[in-house]
Formats: sequence, C-alpha cells, structure tokens
Amino acid sequence: MADCYWITFLVVLFCLVGAFDASAGDADPLYRACFGQCKETGCAGETCFAHCNTPLNGSSSDDNWYLKEPLYLWLKQANCLSDCQYHCMLQRETERATHGFGPVKYHGKWPFKRVFGLQEPVSVAFSALNLAMHLHGWLSFFTLIYYKLRSNADETTCYNYSSLWHIYAFLSINSWLWSAIFHGRDMDFTEKLDYSSAVVLLGFSLIVSVLRSFSVKNEATRVLVAAPLLAFTITHILYLNYYQMDYGWNMKVCVVIAVSQLLIWSIWAGISHHPSRWKLWTVVVGGGLAMLLEIYDFPPYLGLVDAHALWHATTIPLTYIWWSFIKDDAKYGTSNSSKKDK
Ligand SMILES: [Zn+2]
Repeated sequence: MADCYWITFLVVLFCLVGAFDASAGDADPLYRACFGQCKETGCAGETCFAHCNTPLNGSSSDDNWYLKEPLYLWLKQANCLSDCQYHCMLQRETERATHGFGPVKYHGKWPFKRVFGLQEPVSVAFSALNLAMHLHGWLSFFTLIYYKLRSNADETTCYNYSSLWHIYAFLSINSWLWSAIFHGRDMDFTEKLDYSSAVVLLGFSLIVSVLRSFSVKNEATRVLVAAPLLAFTITHILYLNYYQMDYGWNMKVCVVIAVSQLLIWSIWAGISHHPSRWKLWTVVVGGGLAMLLEIYDFPPYLGLVDAHALWHATTIPLTYIWWSFIKDDAKYGTSNSSKKDK
C-alpha cells in the first residue's frame, strides 16, 4: 500500500510543478484563425476539401442512402476537421520556416508529412509490429500454460498469475491497435481512444507489478491493492475524455506510473533471486532509457521519424524479452508450487 501513497504524492508534486501547458502550435492565433475559417468554409487557404461541404438545406443532390446516415456524416465531419488541422499546420509551418523558426507541436504532436494518407507512417508501422509482438508473446504464453505445463504436471499445480497476464495481453493488443489507428489518422475520437487505452494498460501494468513482486495470491488482498490504482486510472481517463485533454499533465501521470513500476520490478529483480532476473533488468534498463526519448522528444527528421516513433521501435525487442520473462516466470512459478505440494 505504501506504493500507492508514493504514487499519489509524486502525482500531486508533478501537478504543482506547472502541469497545464498546451501545445504552442495550436495556441498560435494565425493557426487558430486558419482552422476556424476552414471549419466554416472547408478551405485552408488555397486548399479546399470536398468532404467539408455540407449542403445548407440538409439535402444532397446524390440520393445514396448512406449519405444521410449519422455515422457517415460524423466521420465526414471528423475527416474534415483532421484535414483542416493538417493543412493549416502545414501552412503555418511553411510560414514559420521562412521566418527562420523551428517546428512547434500542434494538438500535442509534431508536424508530420502524410504518406499514403497516413499521418505518421513510421509510428503506424512500429505500432503494428508491437501489436504483432504482443500477440506472438501471448500465444506462446497461452500454449505454455495450457498445453506444456499442464501436461507435464498434475492438475493441482498452476501458475497463479496467468489470468493477470491474459488481461495484460488483451490490454496491450488493444492499446497498440488504437496506437496504430491514431498515428494513421489523428482525429478527436482516435486520439481519445489511444490515450485512454495507453493509460488503462499502464495502470493495469502497475497493478500487475505490485501483485507479482509482492506475490499477492489472495483474491481479497488483490482487490484491496488494485482498487485505489484502478480508481485513479479511471478518474484520469474521465478527466482526459470529459474535462480537458491536457497533454502535459497526461505525460506526467504516465511517466510517474511507468517509473513506479520500473522501480518496483527492478527492486524485486534485485532481491528475489528469480532465475530470469536478467531479462527483467534488460526490460527495466531498456524501458527506462527508451522513456528518455519520450521525455526529451525531438521534432521529426524529414517530417517522418521523431522521438516518439523511435520510442515505439525500441519497445519491439523489449516486448519480446518481456514475454520471454513472463513465460520463464510461469515455468518458475509452476515448478515452485509443485515442489510445495510434494
Ligand atoms: Zn504512439
């Protein structure tokens, strides 16, 4: 429980050290003027978008049924806003570059060049690879638990944390799926789903780190440990979705949760004499170093590869080692419990 107090303390501390900073790009009055005009006229300067033109009387010259469907209209509107943001950003960045200014962030993201309609193609590719790595890791974990370990031992031997890792796998796959979609096209709903999925995954990972490192096997104690962390995670997601999408504050919350679990895992690896602790160390050190990319993020090189994309690249090999550790832990946990049974 002491960890929860530490997390709360750190979160409050970060909150006090000026959390409410918006992106410089979308605070720029010229960008706002362009975006405001584009939303009304469907044109960002010289560039106009056909899908931004909604007939004033609500009737369409084309009588296709789907043109009046709410989902179609909503997607059309979202696509229009995304295109307005993108082209106003491009225009402002060109103007800024001619005056000798460097790139700034817009709505929490650096200005990227679209490739095949994908806003951040490199991040999309790395997110898809991360998803594939989690899927591969989870499938091999599943095979290990339900086929290899169960057939080698009697029915009473079991690994106590398998359900936690199944949920972890589902949340990871969900998070990387939305990450790929969000990096493909930045819209209000894709952004909220990506940020929310990432926060859920981080919150749950922290819970798993506490439960595994303190070997919490009792259901009631698990609920007691998980409840405050879950409550905080849900409150934070509600804040982002329904009150304010504050990128600076969200980044600080995510860093505090991530650092907390890295600390928990590293201390546990140091004192537990786990046979695969070197894998844990690799993920902790690698994850810590990778996080530096996310904190000291630099603008995209050639408008394509930024610190965030590189961060997604580093998590691919780390994910492989991480699932390898989880499988080793399952073997270790099962052999320990069968020894105790004898
Ligand atoms: Zn991302």
